[in-house]
Amino acid sequence: MNDAEIARLQAENEGLRAELDETNQGVLALYAELDNQAAQLREASELKSRFLSYMSHEFRTPLGSILSIARLLADEMDGPLTDEQRKQVAFVSGAARELSDMVDDLLDLAKIEAGRITISPAWFELMDLFSALRGMFRPIVDGTDADLVFEDPEGLPKLYTDDKKVSQILRNFISNALKFTPRGEVRVSARLEGSDRVRFTVRDTGIGIPEELQHVLFEDFTQVDSPLQKRVRGTGLGLSLCKQFAELLGGEVGLSSIVGKGSEFFVSLPLAITAEDADDHA
Ligand code: ADP
Repeated sequence: MNDAEIARLQAENEGLRAELDETNQGVLALYAELDNQAAQLREASELKSRFLSYMSHEFRTPLGSILSIARLLADEMDGPLTDEQRKQVAFVSGAARELSDMVDDLLDLAKIEAGRITISPAWFELMDLFSALRGMFRPIVDGTDADLVFEDPEGLPKLYTDDKKVSQILRNFISNALKFTPRGEVRVSARLEGSDRVRFTVRDTGIGIPEELQHVLFEDFTQVDSPLQKRVRGTGLGLSLCKQFAELLGGEVGLSSIVGKGSEFFVSLPLAITAEDADDHA
């Protein structure tokens, strides 16, 4: 190799090093930018959680008063009501109950986002869970043209997980199914999935959900704009909570639906929550 060639290679080398230095600086600047954005996102998310929980607490007390006063009035403690007044009081307590459910959902979401939700696993029988749900929904089903059927969870072992959260997920699925099934049937079932998971399904013969909206339903505040939907109020938070609760329990949610035929929502969960999952949120 002659001197000229060595000099050329050296020059080339230096050029490359300068280029590398520049790239490195670019990468460092990008890292700094990313860090900055991550910090801003964290701050925004913390602010959102704090705002949600503050707002929810502030709403709870006055809502509680409205509900108790409406109950006193409905019980006619302060004298009899006319038919019209009874209707009006029922309207006030219905609206207050809806708001109170919404506040509870918001509070749960804020707790999950702040990592402050607790999991309390216990052993329980599916049969007991289904009976409790059946009792809870009896008054609602009595006023609709849809049947609510719980299939016998025969042969399924006891579960070791947070029964309150499982119940909350199923309650949401069932109450949605009843809301959007003007007539026909809502069927709840559970079956083993492999050897260590259980899959709960809530199937309805209701209005169904357009395919293009199915993947966003589990996000916050999503509602389908359909003629029936306009008559039924809700928050659009229920399914997002279901998804987050399922994930806390080491599981997942999903759905399939055909417009005009019905929908099927499922949650698949480990039969027994692992110590890790429980510890993460204890
Ligand atoms: P909410 O019911 O409070 O509006 P959800 O998150 O539980 O909030 O549900 C979001 C939306 O998903 C509902 O408003 C409705 O448009 C749609 N949806 C949920 N379940 C069903 C169902 N079984 N059949 C048809 N639409 C449904």
